[in-house]
Amino acid sequence: MAKLINGKEFADGLCKRITIEVKKLKDQNIVPGLAVARVGEDPASTVYVNMKAKKTEEVGMHSVTKILEKNTSQEELLKIVEELNNDDSINGILVQLPLPKQINEDSVINSINPDKDVDGFHAINTGKLWSNIDSLVPCTPLGCKMLLLDELKDLTGKKAIIVGRSNIVGKPMASLLIGENCTVTVAHSKTQNLEEEVKKSDIVIAAVGVPEMIKGSWIKPGATIIDVGINRIEKDGKNKLVGDVEFQEAEKIAGAITPVPGGVGPMTIACLLHNTLIATCRKNGIEIPKFI
Ligand code: NAP
Repeated sequence: MAKLINGKEFADGLCKRITIEVKKLKDQNIVPGLAVARVGEDPASTVYVNMKAKKTEEVGMHSVTKILEKNTSQEELLKIVEELNNDDSINGILVQLPLPKQINEDSVINSINPDKDVDGFHAINTGKLWSNIDSLVPCTPLGCKMLLLDELKDLTGKKAIIVGRSNIVGKPMASLLIGENCTVTVAHSKTQNLEEEVKKSDIVIAAVGVPEMIKGSWIKPGATIIDVGINRIEKDGKNKLVGDVEFQEAEKIAGAITPVPGGVGPMTIACLLHNTLIATCRKNGIEIPKFI
């Protein structure tokens, strides 16, 4: 049976280390601040934003939450972002996605000061990531990389497949794994013979959004599986969260695997706090603590 990669435990440990660093900053009268803006009442976004605010406070950071009506115009949201860009008590800004149809997500993301873009989605941070220049790195792929390094120590020469090519997970993940000397394949809905591609891979990152799409029988024996997917399904008359990998079969073949829930999910918020800490240190010319 595969070893379970306990993302919850790793994320708790990371948050403890961030709390210590925040305390050191506070001793120098510096309080990292994170602002999260949510537009509308999407239930999942509401849960995520509340969780982010709670965790921000738990590590000792200053937390600001802006809740806007679902019919908020793009101009109104851009004005809020501008205010946060100019607010010295705020080091990190996150606009919760998805946004209502009347708002262009790219325009909003690219209006955030790149130095405060703790989601790492701004075009400048994307370009820096692909150019090996220090940047703010998208939280979910950063969390996946931390789990992989913790599990495997050195990824050099590993063949990795990322299933999914979104801007928030698949593409930045590809850049991070190339940076770790992996040979990377990025698969998507038009990929042919996905099963064969997965079968050749030492590392599988599943970021598709289709419940249990990657079958256990596709997994190379001993491979490391990072399941980013969070899918709510009904099974045996109950609501259940499952990943993009057929966990019960995959864990019989893989070397190590993240569960859903309790795998990648908790890493995303921990990495958001990590990025807020880094943004604060950079702004104040303080040496950045090493976490990986
Ligand atoms: P997304 O933007 O919808 O992208 C999904 C990707 O999967 C696309 O590139 C798509 O290909 C590809 N795809 C869809 N069907 C496929 C198929 N049958 N075969 C191969 N590829 C297929 O999703 P996302 O935002 O990256 O999120 C992916 C999953 O991760 C979702 O379940 C989401 O809830 C979860 N997620 C979790 C966290 C976390 O904190 N754990 C964070 C972010 C996302 P095309 O590009 O060709 O359409």
